[in-house]
Amino acid sequence: MSDSTSSEPVAAAKPLPVPSELARPFWQALKHHELRLQQCTACHFYNHPPRIACPRCHGHGFAWTRVRPQGSVYSYTVVHRPPVPAFKEDVPYAVALVDVADTNVRLLSNLLAPLGDLRIGMPVEIVFDDVTPDISLFRFRPCDAAAPSASTAGRP
Ligand SMILES: [Zn+2]
Repeated sequence: MSDSTSSEPVAAAKPLPVPSELARPFWQALKHHELRLQQCTACHFYNHPPRIACPRCHGHGFAWTRVRPQGSVYSYTVVHRPPVPAFKEDVPYAVALVDVADTNVRLLSNLLAPLGDLRIGMPVEIVFDDVTPDISLFRFRPCDAAAPSASTAGRP
């Protein structure tokens, strides 16, 4: 217990994720600067967020598969009003929904790019941000070439 005697305003701290037991492997992988997604061992469907049963085949067997930390922007928005005071210095910033390469998963996070450069379909890669000794976050940034992903996810 560290009794904080400093007068630093607590409100300046940004909220951190609190990993559930089910999602712990995802967060542990981020700490190792890897992107791992829960994948059904029966039908190979990727789940994110992770589930206790596969929504496609109802299987209960899962692996934590390391996937390529790249993708393309499915959609994005620009945040102008900070959701909590801790983000006041950051606005305006971009948040993107990204199709992760070679999977059926879309992830949501910050897109670190000049706001004038944003476009649907832009290729991005994940950057890992070690915000505390226990928590690493993932964010997206543009990457030069769309890496070879001839088979872009079999989305219906
Ligand atoms: Zn399945």
